[in-house]
Amino acid sequence: MLYIVATPIGNLKDITLRAIDVLKSVDLIACEDTRHTKILLAQYGITRPTTSFFQRNRIVKASYLLNLLQQGKSIALVSDAGTPGILDPGYNIINLAIKRDIPITVIPGPCALVNALVLSGKPTHNFVFVGFLPKRAGARQNQLKELAKLPYTVVFYESCHRILAVLEDIQAIFGEKELVVARELTKKFEEVKRGSAKQLLGAFKKDRPKGEFVIVI
Ligand code: SAM
Repeated sequence: MLYIVATPIGNLKDITLRAIDVLKSVDLIACEDTRHTKILLAQYGITRPTTSFFQRNRIVKASYLLNLLQQGKSIALVSDAGTPGILDPGYNIINLAIKRDIPITVIPGPCALVNALVLSGKPTHNFVFVGFLPKRAGARQNQLKELAKLPYTVVFYESCHRILAVLEDIQAIFGEKELVVARELTKKFEEVKRGSAKQLLGAFKKDRPKGEFVIVI
């Protein structure tokens, strides 16, 4: 069985009893970064063997892990934070496991997009999640222009390095529309700011934001 196990996005207490049970019982834990996950495993006294499974080794490693699964081993897949498969290594191995008829299940838990969407207070019955916007300004602005035409709540992830540039693009394309920037979710300095891109730019230029962001428009 391949277990896709969600892990905390900040607060180490955000792990389910079932996730702990699974992580304690599997033959192997495949981690995006073994050093990072070992902090979590140590916190909960989990001593199962770990191996790395990250973006660059995912093709070779997926085939190794799938062979183990076909031999009857159980494997838990975890990422650095949140739900594997949501912009984290996972999609490929899940897809290949399905093709090989290997049983899979998800042990649900944190996902930054869900936290931010719910906290945003924006309509949640129809939303579009676009992951990270393109890094190049032109491509990013084109994508934002397309998104502005949709009658849905739009959610995407952003890093502290590009947040100001992205807000400037949003201001140019979405005008006065109210958006929500959620930062450091579940952590000590969790913050949810609401306002037009212009207002948020003013606030963030005064006080340079750090950490990880989800933007909801
Ligand atoms: N798999 C993860 C999930 O389930 O949310 C997402 C992984 S993605 C590589 C990392 C991005 O998620 C960060 O750059 C940030 O935009 C967002 N993110 C992750 N943790 C966050 C947090 N605690 N607060 C705000 N955003 C977060």
